Amino acid sequence: MADKSYNHAKIEKKWQEKWEADQLYRSVIDESKPKFYALTMLPYPSGDLHIGHWYAMTPSDARARFMRMNGYNVLFPMGFDAFGLPAENAAVKRGIHPKEWTYRNIDRMRAQLRSMGAMFDWEREAVSADPEYYRWSEWFFIQLYKHGMAYRKMSPVDWCPNCNTTLAREQVWGEDRHCERCGTPVIKKDLDQWFFTTTQYADELLDFSPIDWPERVKTLQTNWIGRSEGASVIFKTEVGNHDIEIFTTRPDTLWGATFMVFSPEHPLVDVVTSSDKKAEVEAYKAQAARQTDIEREATDKEKTGVFTGGYAVNPVNNERIPIWIADYVLMSYGTGAIMAVPAHDERDFEFARKFELPIIPVIQPEGESDPSAGSGRRPDGAEMEVAYIGPGQMINSGPLNGTPVNDEKGRKNPSIHAAINWLEERGVGKEAVNYRLRDWLISRQRYWGAPIPMIYCMEHGWNPVPDDQLPVLLPDDVEWKPTGESPLKLHPTWKNAPCPVCGQPATRETDTMDTFMCSSWYHLRYLSPDYHDGPFDEAEYNYWMPVDIYTGGIEHATMHLIYTRFFHKALRDMGITEGPEPMAQLRNQGMVLGEDHEKMSKSRGNVIAPDELVRLYGADTVRAYLMFFARWDMGGPWNSQGIEGSVRWIRRIWTLFTDPSTPGTATDETKRTLRRKVHQTLKSVTRDFEQFEFNTIISSLMELMNEMYKAREAGAAGSKEWEEAKDIYLCMMAPVTPHIAEELWTEHLDKPYSIHQQPWPQVAEAANHEDSTKIHVTANDNIRGKATDPA
Ligand SMILES: [Zn+2]
Ligand SMILES: [Zn+2]
Repeated sequence: MADKSYNHAKIEKKWQEKWEADQLYRSVIDESKPKFYALTMLPYPSGDLHIGHWYAMTPSDARARFMRMNGYNVLFPMGFDAFGLPAENAAVKRGIHPKEWTYRNIDRMRAQLRSMGAMFDWEREAVSADPEYYRWSEWFFIQLYKHGMAYRKMSPVDWCPNCNTTLAREQVWGEDRHCERCGTPVIKKDLDQWFFTTTQYADELLDFSPIDWPERVKTLQTNWIGRSEGASVIFKTEVGNHDIEIFTTRPDTLWGATFMVFSPEHPLVDVVTSSDKKAEVEAYKAQAARQTDIEREATDKEKTGVFTGGYAVNPVNNERIPIWIADYVLMSYGTGAIMAVPAHDERDFEFARKFELPIIPVIQPEGESDPSAGSGRRPDGAEMEVAYIGPGQMINSGPLNGTPVNDEKGRKNPSIHAAINWLEERGVGKEAVNYRLRDWLISRQRYWGAPIPMIYCMEHGWNPVPDDQLPVLLPDDVEWKPTGESPLKLHPTWKNAPCPVCGQPATRETDTMDTFMCSSWYHLRYLSPDYHDGPFDEAEYNYWMPVDIYTGGIEHATMHLIYTRFFHKALRDMGITEGPEPMAQLRNQGMVLGEDHEKMSKSRGNVIAPDELVRLYGADTVRAYLMFFARWDMGGPWNSQGIEGSVRWIRRIWTLFTDPSTPGTATDETKRTLRRKVHQTLKSVTRDFEQFEFNTIISSLMELMNEMYKAREAGAAGSKEWEEAKDIYLCMMAPVTPHIAEELWTEHLDKPYSIHQQPWPQVAEAANHEDSTKIHVTANDNIRGKATDPA
């Protein structure tokens, strides 16, 4: 006989062990069923699973279980994003080898993940720091290199002086441009680095039509890619006739360009600087180099700059305009040189006023008189108080005077359209598109990452490590402490390797890869984590891909979620993957805040530890509360009183299903009401699962439980409606609270194991309609009654 008391610890342990022993969640190719690849973002092995992991993963698990009960062959894998800086920083702090620290954490987190009772298929686990995994990260790097999508160049990079490494632009956060990991303001440093050509896919990455992703993510990515239309224009230096290329979104204001500004690092600065200005220019350059980009770009900062003594020639009117240098122009944006149109750009206006440079208006605001008539008030630069940004018509612009100017961007604006045509006809400029997106900087001067599989020979330059020598193994015996140099460079022998071309002594790349490279393709490694003949087994790919639903945090919108899309498209163009996108649908959970409504952090002391909650209440209760306490996509503050509601719900369910209730004599009306309520709930719960509305699923189930208590009091126990209600109830509960549902189903209702292999119940529409059904069902019963009544 089954245990009478609800002992969550015992029940949950029992079923977790049985499910695992029976391989209940093993997912293998089954052509007879539609597939469903449910993917939740893999954790970083920080050492402890926090409530945020539970919040991301357990509702995703419930959704995956729901799909499984709906007849899909569901793959729901799990793994670890095991390389990366935090492992190394923590290891440095504690004096443990990063590898030991990482794998110890993984062991601990595996146990914690198992306590969720999720349907992870552990046979498909992949760990990015395993040589059999990073062998393929290296292989992908080589494929990208061979297809011209990985290249090396010297470039100024964002450098964290605390972590002693390069950061990708995506890892530099906030107005003050600080390091994502440690908060230190970043500085610029020139280094030879490896890049991937993400910008090659900028336009395609802006096309979201093949995917169902949240609007917010699409907007964040669109802004991040930052496509702007305009023109590239060539100015000339007065001395030496050198080309100065600029990009402008407003070629229609070229006639109003009264000066140019170079970044202090622009290569032509030395060429244009006159001898009498040399000392001043050098001093300014030195001062700018000491500042971080934050300081240089701060909008509230007083504009500084110096005149180089040199001039450029404006190609539209051959006017001679002075060239200045100013630190607010950065080499890393555009071409490092801008044309300044103070009449129609706020920053240029401020600069011109401060340094008494000419301001020539070239757009006449709407409503002001036609300048060509010569009678009206012409806005004069001298009387302008602010830059004019609005529409109107072109003035002071020679051949284009009178062309209307509207608020549209690019060629949709008649003035820009006319200006581009004019530039192109004369060969001094052309239509151009500029992106904020930069190529992806891959090199990291750290130890704990996948080695970049490249070898440098004095004679043959850079060449990839031959396939049969992969993986390039990360050596264990290194001094991994951060010195600013790649730790692998300091290893006595590791970097020595024969040149793949001539066999002469050559040197390995000692930088390692950005870990976002490893996580760009983990969904592919899950398909066949033990496969040796390639990164994945094609048969598995053909069956499971693309990912049907991807769940995780929105904070990855402009990092991982762009990288993985780029990666897929690059692989597709190399013939390795298929289809336009890797993840068909994306849903983001919100954030669980502390009870004080602040972000959880150790320093605030408001961290909620899931292990403790599981010990106290059981995984089912924690799962239910996480789905109940807030809209999943919104999140909200934790409430330790609130979880009591979920505790009560589970206890009352236990009592309802385990108390012996003697069959009663309920009226037909009572039974019909119960049945109607059951099917109405089933309908809304089904819809809510489809739409990720987890909180209303739990509240519907709570309501239905109250109805069932009422019906039982009214004597419904023992009726077929009562039995049906119990079956449907447990099936609806199963995805949310898998352990108790299994216990009650198998042990108390004596139904076939496992509830997780049962089909999702069908809504009986007939039972579902409040009014019409009543008559309908009654009529039906009467007919049946007559037909079967032998009297
Ligand atoms: Zn840092
Ligand atoms: Zn060689």
